[in-house]
Amino acid sequence: MMLPDYRAQRARFLQAAERAGAQLRSWRHPLPGPHGETLHTDVALLGDPAAEKVMLIISGTHGVEGYYGSDSQIAWLETAEARAVPPDCALLLVHLINPWGTAHLRRVNEENIDLNRNFIDFSRPAPASPTYDAMHTFYVGDRAAADAAYADALENQGWPAIKRVVEAGQYRDADGIFFGGKAASWSQLTLGAIIDAYLRQAKSVISFDLHTGAGAYGHPMLMAIAERPWRALDRARALFGEWLTVLFTGAGRDSETGVTATATGYLSQFMHDSLPEIELIQLVIECGTLPGEEMHRRVRDDHWLHLTGDPASEAGRRIKQALAAGFYPEDPDWRAVVELRTQQIFRHAWRSLTATD
Ligand SMILES: [Zn+2]
Repeated sequence: MMLPDYRAQRARFLQAAERAGAQLRSWRHPLPGPHGETLHTDVALLGDPAAEKVMLIISGTHGVEGYYGSDSQIAWLETAEARAVPPDCALLLVHLINPWGTAHLRRVNEENIDLNRNFIDFSRPAPASPTYDAMHTFYVGDRAAADAAYADALENQGWPAIKRVVEAGQYRDADGIFFGGKAASWSQLTLGAIIDAYLRQAKSVISFDLHTGAGAYGHPMLMAIAERPWRALDRARALFGEWLTVLFTGAGRDSETGVTATATGYLSQFMHDSLPEIELIQLVIECGTLPGEEMHRRVRDDHWLHLTGDPASEAGRRIKQALAAGFYPEDPDWRAVVELRTQQIFRHAWRSLTATD
């Protein structure tokens, strides 16, 4: 497969935003992409900047998943419905909040941080992860020894037990997997600045964070992920009924969805914490691809590649292809199903938000 390309994807988004008459603003990332290109998080606003009702769509929290997210933003921008913004309403698109990860075809950011573990308050001590410490050896040091230890754990403990521990995230080892960071990342600070610039006047917001790679192949899941019940939860349940899966995260929690319930630092929780005074419905669309164990194998190979290998080498390219195919399948039926369902969800949310009451 052709590797997806940040520059082409960004150009398509900017063209679609311009055609829709959006106001654009860009936050430049400090580092370049793999071809020396500059990287940006672009923000497109349609409608009234002072609107009290806003639909927000964020793509690329996990960099490489941003190709699906960006496609979804572009497709929505191209609908007549999105362009006909009623008074006192706005559509806000945050395009690729982790542009480094999207450009370099990584799930993580430039600091090996899983952004969806980074959205915690670093003025307080980060959660400890004593059970991860024993599994850190799967991801560092001598590769053959690490592979043997990982194979042994798969055989004896099974993937679900490993997943519960490693995907919960950890804040100690910057060279480890699902690393949450030691401080707020560029992306966390940028999202905070975007919230301050665009959402402080809002009273009612429906917000989407778009993902791929967890859950059943070609079955987009509509989820709400948070550490505890939130203000507009009943409204969200009434709006989406049985389509909505509500997931509460924290130590000891479990989930059948493929999304990790034991983790901390989700972007969704950050949105709630950043906008505590408003009617916020924070949603996640998670489009399943391959089984969790296979996805982890590909993520783990990419982790090793950036620790000790050369992403530009032939071996590196094969690892990137496997990762991209895992998070953004080329299968036209997969693409068609996730587009159909994602647009359906956007339309349902948008009609509810913009309805005059
Ligand atoms: Zn994701």
